[in-house]
Amino acid sequence: MVFDYDLFVIGGGSGGVRAARIAAGYGASVALAEEYRMGGTCVIRGCVPKKLMVYASSYPDAMAEARAYGWQASCESFDWPRFRTTLHAELDRLEGVYTRNAEAAGVTLYHQRAQLIDPHTVLLADGSRLRARHILVATGGTPWLPEKFRNLGAMTSNEIFLAEKLPRSILIIGGGFIACEFACILHGLGVEVVQYYRGAQILRGFDDDLRAHVAAEMAAQGIGLQVDTDLVDLIRLDDGRFAATDTRGARREFDHVLFATGRVPNTFGLGLEAAGVKLAASGAIEVDAYSQTSVPSIFAVGDVTDRINLTPVAIREGHAFADTVFGAKRTPVDHSLVASAVFTRPEAGAVGLSEEEARQRGPVTIYMTTFRPMQSAFVGGQGRVMMKLVCDRDSKRVLGCHIVAPAAAEMIQLAAVAIGMGATKADFDRTVAVHPTMSEEIVLLRTPVCSD
Ligand code: NDP
Repeated sequence: MVFDYDLFVIGGGSGGVRAARIAAGYGASVALAEEYRMGGTCVIRGCVPKKLMVYASSYPDAMAEARAYGWQASCESFDWPRFRTTLHAELDRLEGVYTRNAEAAGVTLYHQRAQLIDPHTVLLADGSRLRARHILVATGGTPWLPEKFRNLGAMTSNEIFLAEKLPRSILIIGGGFIACEFACILHGLGVEVVQYYRGAQILRGFDDDLRAHVAAEMAAQGIGLQVDTDLVDLIRLDDGRFAATDTRGARREFDHVLFATGRVPNTFGLGLEAAGVKLAASGAIEVDAYSQTSVPSIFAVGDVTDRINLTPVAIREGHAFADTVFGAKRTPVDHSLVASAVFTRPEAGAVGLSEEEARQRGPVTIYMTTFRPMQSAFVGGQGRVMMKLVCDRDSKRVLGCHIVAPAAAEMIQLAAVAIGMGATKADFDRTVAVHPTMSEEIVLLRTPVCSD
């Protein structure tokens, strides 16, 4: 069989680009099709613009603190159009970097949509058909919202970075990563935020103490977080605002509504079924540990496989795929012990098992502290940070670390190294504290709060 390429990648996001570049580095002839913008969700409408908005939203608190420290400083009003212009210039720059890096690695780029025709053929939007020995699907995910609330003009995370102006008030639906991060970001930018979460506590899947701590800190800042509350009705008013009725029967009006009700794998209209690729009920592509689908020539990485939907995981999967298929190094991806961070204010960072997960596996010993950090406590700040270690009672191994604190994301990265190496509580205790820091408390946890 004659092929145009050794590898054809569909999707120019984190996972697809990494796979393409590494495969090309192994000498494979590689093409990549991207229908929107190179860089994918993370760079164009996810992690990167979100983090820049996190920074933007942190200044009012920083200025208030600066004043209390003796500075004359103020943050009067936020110039969203100016920020947005700078933001998009940065995204354009990063898109250029992604494009140039792929091309420099020898990857041929097609700036158009591609879909599968059969196990070795893709059809491009311009009608051309290309044949490849291997095809990698890395098309990511897309925001999902309940059917009845579509077509009302409410936002998802896709639209928020493009908004012409910031609303004065917003209702955020959901209690996951995106809902909580944007609640804090928009509140920091001066928007009145109300957040409805249908369950009893936000951030399902995280440790219960972490969840409760984040929720308490968010509420203390003035975010209108309402748990056990869902949206039942939404109307677009004549003036463009929204009227929302919740499960408690309350009706409130908002300038805008943001649905952060999850993301789904981007598999629609890709020709996967025609090519014989097996999908899960969620629409995710089913893959094995090597990211191989039910069709041997077709692989998939990243959010489209709905394993752990995080950029660094997609990158790892893309790299491992290229090592396996083109580098003669069969490399499964280890999805255990993936650290993650939620960029709320304060941030939350977690790695390993929550107390609830650990307890299901056996007896545990729990160490935890909460305290007011020096920087804000000095000027009367009431915000508290939380640090928690979940340990196996018998082996004393640290199974999980959970932190809610400014810069928790930075701290958890390093805790992940220790926990990945199998550190015990004694290893943490042996580590001499770096003083004065917040993170020193994690090596000074002497007395368990409970032990089974
Ligand atoms: P999540 O899955 O984290 O959260 C979705 C939220 O929407 C949950 O609280 C869920 O409730 C709620 N929900 C789902 N369906 C409905 C419904 N019909 N009505 C009301 N509420 C509903 O998704 P996100 O969109 O926040 O983020 C998607 C993924 O992107 C994350 O899981 C994460 O992997 C990634 N991400 C990572 C970030 C980071 O690393 N910092 C930042 C942003 C995203 P329930 O809990 O009850 O199911």
